[in-house]
Amino acid sequence: MTARILVVDDIPANVKLLEARLLAEYFEVLTAEDGMTALSICDQTQVDLILLDIMMPGIDGFEVCERLKQNPRTAHIPVVMVTALDQPADRVRGLKAGADDFLTKPVNDLQLMTRVKSLVRFKALSDELRLRAETARDLGLEGLLAPHQGHLDEPGLVLLVEGRANAQDRMARALKGIADITAIGDPQAALFEAAEKPYELVIVSSALEDYDPLRLCSQLRSLERTRFIPMLMVAEQGEEDLVIRALDLGVNDYLLRPLDPNELVARSVTQIRRMRYTGQLRSSLTQSVEFAVTDSLTGLNNRRYLDTHLTALVERSNRRGRPLSVLITDIDHFKAINDVHGHEGGDDVLREFSRRVRGAVRGADLACRYGGEEFVVVMPDTTPEVASQVAERLRNAIASAPFKVSATGAMAPVTTSVGIATLEKSGEGADSLLRRADQALYQAKNAGRNRVVGVAA
Ligand code: GH3
Ligand code: MG
Ligand code: MG
Repeated sequence: MTARILVVDDIPANVKLLEARLLAEYFEVLTAEDGMTALSICDQTQVDLILLDIMMPGIDGFEVCERLKQNPRTAHIPVVMVTALDQPADRVRGLKAGADDFLTKPVNDLQLMTRVKSLVRFKALSDELRLRAETARDLGLEGLLAPHQGHLDEPGLVLLVEGRANAQDRMARALKGIADITAIGDPQAALFEAAEKPYELVIVSSALEDYDPLRLCSQLRSLERTRFIPMLMVAEQGEEDLVIRALDLGVNDYLLRPLDPNELVARSVTQIRRMRYTGQLRSSLTQSVEFAVTDSLTGLNNRRYLDTHLTALVERSNRRGRPLSVLITDIDHFKAINDVHGHEGGDDVLREFSRRVRGAVRGADLACRYGGEEFVVVMPDTTPEVASQVAERLRNAIASAPFKVSATGAMAPVTTSVGIATLEKSGEGADSLLRRADQALYQAKNAGRNRVVGVAA
């Protein structure tokens, strides 16, 4: 995982020090000695992460951060503010300015690498998700471009895995203002619990009775239900080796005892916020994928979906030697329906037609809108005889009752013609199967419409 990191500090020695450490980890490093230079670098080149000093002549770090977060082109670049240890108020101002994380001077090596790697990983993931969501024509995306909003509106759902009762109490008290906490001493029970509720953070203490905390971390990362939950490890002084291994296993951040309650809160809030941000991106991505394979007028799957899925179904059917039937149905004289009831009225008919199609087939069948007023139903494990019965039921569901046109209240009689084909001889492909069904449909139209025709293989 490589990334381009911009180091901003007015003292050249500080820049050199951070640069050397980052280069040693094979990051690409850019440097700036004042805020304006930093802003123009971010505007002109792609930067993956910024380490930002606060006290600088000209515009200070807070202002640089604010300007970056206000500019849509740079708002998603993570900013780590480098604060002085004796200025806790800087953190509050930094959070207000939109900082993503903090480091204190003098910068500790392990902390530097933890924060940098965790943010680079986060940025890579969110870049990827944003890109995919955008290309898939996402709708609610604007709201997702600002992951940096300060406090938590809703308390975070936090699972605390800590064996000692007094330590549990202390941490629970510190986090009370920002989280709903479930504290568990037994790591096995904690693993089950983590999979039960939509936790947003798991805090793992290194002091677990008779249990390797690293094992718990790796189990959390490998379970489907828990693999995206951020993990924060709380370790003892001198356990740096354990922390390094934990970070390799995917732990997102760590704290050393004795715990500073403010630090615990800040680190927890950061992780919960990131979890929420990527969670939103993921669900918007799922939505856009659904958009991409769904016909918006009828809610049925669209042709793109059918094309991919039918290929897979045909292959499976050939492999297992099971029958597979498809039917194509096309509304009769639909042009005339549009002419009489208008395009809106035609749309009403298409929606109601889709409802009736769905009602006439099994749940396991795949119903798609194939084109304008043409629909395809794929029926796995279905012989020609059964397919004819389904097609007849469908034809009847359309013809037996007129369609209500909601715009005008008029009732429109509608009929449809159906062609069926069944995959029986092994080796036939999806295209050929659909072509045969289409030929059958053509015959049904020619024979007078409102009827079902099947073709022998
Ligand atoms: P046939 O019985 O031979 O199928 O006659 P038809 O009129 O149904 O067939 P044709 O293919 O000539 O016309 C289909 C019409 O469907 C033309 C097109 O304007 C209309 N159409 C296609 N998509 C939509 C749509 O989304 N909404 C509406 N209202 N009409 C559509
Ligand atoms: Mg038609
Ligand atoms: Mg047509």
